[in-house]
Amino acid sequence: MNFKIGIIVLFMSVLHLNAQELQDLSTTYRGEREKENNLVHTKLSVAFNFEKRQLSGEAWLTLAPHFYPTSSLTLDAKGMLIHEVTQNGRALKYDYKDDVLKVNLGKTYLKDDQYTIYIKYTARPDEVKQEGSAAINDAKGLYFIDPDQKDAEKPTQIWTQGETESSSCWFPTIDSPNQKTSQEIYIKVPEKYVTLSNGILVEQKNNNDGTRTDYWKLDQKHAPYLFFMGIGEYSIVKDKWKNIDVDYYVEPAFEPYAKDIFGLTPEMMDFYSSYTGVDYMWPKYAQMVARDYVSGAMENTTAVLHAENAQQVPGQLIDENSWEYVIAHELFHHWFGDYVTAESWSNLTVNESFANYGEYLWIEHKYGKDAADAHRHEEIQGYLAGGNELKDLVRFYYESREDMFDAVSYNKGGTILHMLRSYLGDQAFRTGIKQYLTDNAYGTGEAHQLRLAMEKVTGKDLNWFFNQWYFNNGHPKLEVKYDYNDSSKLVAVSISQNQEEVFQFPLTIQVYEGGKPKTYPVWIDEKSESFSFKYTKRPELVNVDSDRVLLVEINDSKTTENYVHQYLYGTTYEDRREAIENLGDHQSEKIAVTTLSKALNDPYYGLRILAIDKVDISRSDAAEAIKHMEKLAKEDPKTLVQAAAIEKLAITKNEKYIPLYNEALKSKSYAVQNAALSALFALDPQLGLTNLESVVNEKNRKYLKDALIPIYIQIKNEDQMPFVADNLIAGMFFTDDKQTQNIYKEGFQWVVNSSNIEATQNLVDSFVDMGIKYKDYGADQMARQVLNQVLGVKQASQYSNKAEMIKIVEDGLAKL
Ligand SMILES: [Zn+2]
Repeated sequence: MNFKIGIIVLFMSVLHLNAQELQDLSTTYRGEREKENNLVHTKLSVAFNFEKRQLSGEAWLTLAPHFYPTSSLTLDAKGMLIHEVTQNGRALKYDYKDDVLKVNLGKTYLKDDQYTIYIKYTARPDEVKQEGSAAINDAKGLYFIDPDQKDAEKPTQIWTQGETESSSCWFPTIDSPNQKTSQEIYIKVPEKYVTLSNGILVEQKNNNDGTRTDYWKLDQKHAPYLFFMGIGEYSIVKDKWKNIDVDYYVEPAFEPYAKDIFGLTPEMMDFYSSYTGVDYMWPKYAQMVARDYVSGAMENTTAVLHAENAQQVPGQLIDENSWEYVIAHELFHHWFGDYVTAESWSNLTVNESFANYGEYLWIEHKYGKDAADAHRHEEIQGYLAGGNELKDLVRFYYESREDMFDAVSYNKGGTILHMLRSYLGDQAFRTGIKQYLTDNAYGTGEAHQLRLAMEKVTGKDLNWFFNQWYFNNGHPKLEVKYDYNDSSKLVAVSISQNQEEVFQFPLTIQVYEGGKPKTYPVWIDEKSESFSFKYTKRPELVNVDSDRVLLVEINDSKTTENYVHQYLYGTTYEDRREAIENLGDHQSEKIAVTTLSKALNDPYYGLRILAIDKVDISRSDAAEAIKHMEKLAKEDPKTLVQAAAIEKLAITKNEKYIPLYNEALKSKSYAVQNAALSALFALDPQLGLTNLESVVNEKNRKYLKDALIPIYIQIKNEDQMPFVADNLIAGMFFTDDKQTQNIYKEGFQWVVNSSNIEATQNLVDSFVDMGIKYKDYGADQMARQVLNQVLGVKQASQYSNKAEMIKIVEDGLAKL
């Protein structure tokens, strides 16, 4: 599963939540669920009641005792009505309460004695009461989107979300990741809808009553939480990997772009098959996009579901396919998660760390090491953002299983795999994961199985690594000091560990004399250590942790000259990134300015953007940098760099750039258009508005909102107030830029103090949606507070439509 931890982290900081509040204080041990009976096969037949948002189902479940003889079976069945439980037509006694169905089998079965029972039931997702997936929303398992077709903007859809234990909201099962079952499902739907489920679409049967029944089948076994159904009006765009169907289910409007969004999937399947040494093992691969999805994406076996953000248009895709790493993540789950499944949520990281690291591996393979390391940098920032340092990677104590879906299981886990790969070597790492996958195929795994596989392949003892990184928490925090002795021609590098527990790890230290470094591998396992290196001429730079693999925070004592050398000769993305950051803080020194100017031409576009961001163009010595920037604005091969350069040039408020901005408005890139619109408006509001009218239309308005919303707020454009009201939250809460926040807050006041019904409705809806979506982070409370303030303003107002507005706000409050 994938969701945007970054956004949530930012949100937590807005809500002033701190690590302590989110810290897990649970003292209940969370082990693997005991296996009394095991699922063998699951056959389902389902139909829907759209009006009641219910599913009527029949289930034929085949099971067998795990080891001990048993005459009873316990199933999860959440919020259901159970109509009948039988075996070969003979009624079985059962007891159904508190979402658990206990069946008396009427006889004792021995190990491996298979038996099949039949259950007729009604699934009522709205009756389910449990905490939701990815800590977002209530987990109903089965979701009806606009089933009454009331919302003209929204297509009618049905989709399911099984992780963590919500498949039992729509069929009775043993809802635990350590169960595996093969699957058949008959789905009856109105003819106009397509369906998607796991495995192969074997048959479609017209019922001659306006409905059709689709029969899907997956012979291989997988865990119940990976079951999926998706239903709606979709275009199915066909692709292939070898002889396997690869299908993209998108809303019809996105059919022309489906391959631009998902089209790298077959190449990813090739890459992951070859990287792991285990070929993609499932009979097909499909991806579907859902409205109002409760997470980012989900790795349902052969039937991945993506949130609607996946659907992008050419003006966005030319900037970047912001969903590509999610596509990679869910695909890699088909090896780590679907093929070998975490045996319990405590061990979730054996799913999520690999899916997370799969992103790195793909980016490295496709776009090179700089791009991959830039991605890793973001992941580490997500982990460091707070609340994570006291959590073990493998955690047997947690409050809610949903809490396991955090930046430790994902981000830190991926980083740890990167360290393991570096420590063992790429070939050993690959052979090790092949061993792990092969040993546990169609079964379950925990961190120990990963360790044993790696030990088997490499002949190394890895307890130290796993004890430190998997079964413990935190990371090294190093203090580094240098002492150069020019008479003895020695530099002493002292390294001390400032965190509580001492870590052990390999570390590389580079000593630069001239442009070429000498690299010294060392091993750290003490609180304080010192290493001496000989030199002939005093080194321009000593670079500790030069391979940038370790998960570490370093308090370094490098000089500006050191950072200049590091930028010019450093061997990694991190070397250059860190140098640009530091030089940005020292622009009173000329060498910092000239080096930053060079960084504007960095081979990696992300660092060109960073350099643009850091250069202080108000300085009198910025002429050279500005010249560079003009060039980047016009002709950088990456549109995101062009946009960043335009944004920076806009600060100069120099009219000579008007032709450049006007030209930029013709760009195919929305990022460039956004930047140009903002720049023109900042320079001359009247001119900006004239241009705006020529460029903006109903269709592209939402893609240009970064520029438009602040403009509409500043000119108080009444016609656009509903559009503004709909888009205030992002600028108020999901940015740390104070100026942006202030403009959006001004917009909020403008809307709240108006009598515009549509704008009031949009504002209320957006806060209600946010409150519900991020409920577990306290957003509902905040939304309630805000709406109560709005209510107060409306009540005190003198508008003739006051009563109508008050009702809108009160209705919103009632939903929270
Ligand atoms: Zn995932």
